[in-house]
Amino acid sequence: MEHPTFKQMMNEVVAYGSCCECGTCVLVCPHNVIDYIDGKPKQVAKATASFDFCGISEGIGCDVCAQVCPRLGIREFDMRDAVLPREPGVYEGLFGRYRRIVAARCKDPEILARCQDGGVVTALLCHGLREGLFDGAVVSAADEAMPAAPKPKVVTTVPDAIASASSWYTYCPNNLALADADRMGLKQVCFVGVPCQITPTRKIQLVDPAFLDNGRKKPKHIERQTKFLKGFGEIVSCTIGLLCTEVFTYEGLMVQKLQGEMGIPLTEVKKFNVKGKVLIYKKDGALVEMNLHRAQEYARPECHHCGDFSAELADISCGGVASMDWTITLLRTKKGEELFDDMVARGLLDVRSMDEFENSMKVLIRLTKKQRERVPVPPGRTPRYVRPESYPTVPADPSR
Ligand SMILES: Cc1cc2nc3c(=O)[nH]c(=O)nc-3n(C[C@H](O)[C@H](O)[C@H](O)COP(=O)(O)OP(=O)(O)OC[C@H]3O[C@@H](n4cnc5c(N)ncnc54)[C@H](O)[C@@H]3O)c2cc1C
Ligand code: SF4
Ligand code: SF4
Repeated sequence: MEHPTFKQMMNEVVAYGSCCECGTCVLVCPHNVIDYIDGKPKQVAKATASFDFCGISEGIGCDVCAQVCPRLGIREFDMRDAVLPREPGVYEGLFGRYRRIVAARCKDPEILARCQDGGVVTALLCHGLREGLFDGAVVSAADEAMPAAPKPKVVTTVPDAIASASSWYTYCPNNLALADADRMGLKQVCFVGVPCQITPTRKIQLVDPAFLDNGRKKPKHIERQTKFLKGFGEIVSCTIGLLCTEVFTYEGLMVQKLQGEMGIPLTEVKKFNVKGKVLIYKKDGALVEMNLHRAQEYARPECHHCGDFSAELADISCGGVASMDWTITLLRTKKGEELFDDMVARGLLDVRSMDEFENSMKVLIRLTKKQRERVPVPPGRTPRYVRPESYPTVPADPSR
């Protein structure tokens, strides 16, 4: 078991250009040493000290931040046994372990009018909130202060969950909202996020805090550090991952390209989708299309350090891979499958076999492979550090 340090995190992740801006390190820092500034963790405790100095880490020991960083230490494929143990009914594809893959679509017209693909994510949240399975959900919602941008939000009602439907293609550090959920006293939160947000959420849940007892600190330090390391994981009862290749920079794609070059005021943008090209839906009903390669010029470079396309550690992963109006849904854990099946039994979802979505399966496999291979191997590491030594060759899809 590796226990990376704050110094390693600031050098091998932040300075190396690999930090995905999830903010989880800032969320769990027990001693207010780092803050989330311009999307990155920044040492704010000692102005005269270097960016990679933490007095607590070097004094009594801590490094809670580095244990949960998705770019350091154990990777998704190292955690699959803990999240999805091999057992009858669990299959393994290039895209991680799962029980079933289906195409699904919710039946609620209000959700369908706002959602990205088949509205499965929002329908899951609404169902969980209605039935008391969740007392809140962490989502990304439109930021009133910044047009065409999302901000992390905790929703506790069905109308607010529906208002948060659809995808924003700029980064939104949803993990930071777990602090709000904790302050609100929530105990059963459904966490929605892209893969680099699901991984740190799982790390919080799985990490063994025993390493904190290093013989150099008082019990009150151990208690505080343990609470921050583990506490936010205890309030997460379900994770929904969104398939993700990359996000775009706000300054580049939104301000420079859309507003500057294409003359689309950002206040007029209703929503986006990506289906081989970028689709920009305007509030006046007009649809503007943009070549995906042009948009990719504004892709965030940090995303190319991410090898997990399909949120392999989520309870349920959802994407729109090559499908219009249907959510390609990977039911991974037993909890995720039971939640989904309960909704189907109540007539809340339409479900189709992946036999009818052959192309989506092909795209899912192709993008998963491409994404794994793109991750740079940091100096001094082996490729094993960023990708598994071998892949399963044939994805076994029991629904086919
Ligand atoms: C940044 C991003 C990139 C994506 N890239 C791909 C891709 O390459 N291929 C693919 O198949 N699918 C991708 N998806 C997933 C896809 O866009 C849909 O979210 C998914 O198919 C679920 O559709 P739905 O109708 O069921 O979701 P909905 O019911 O519309 O719910 C969508 C949920 O996404 C949350 N959300 C919106 N924006 C963000 C954000 N920026 N960060 C975190 N959460 C957010 C909302 O809060 C909402 O809960 C991406 C999603 C995002 C957010
Ligand atoms: S080592 Fe501990 S105190 Fe220092 S930045 Fe990380 S979490 Fe905060
Ligand atoms: S935890 Fe997230 S925000 Fe912090 S350094 Fe790692 S990737 Fe960056």
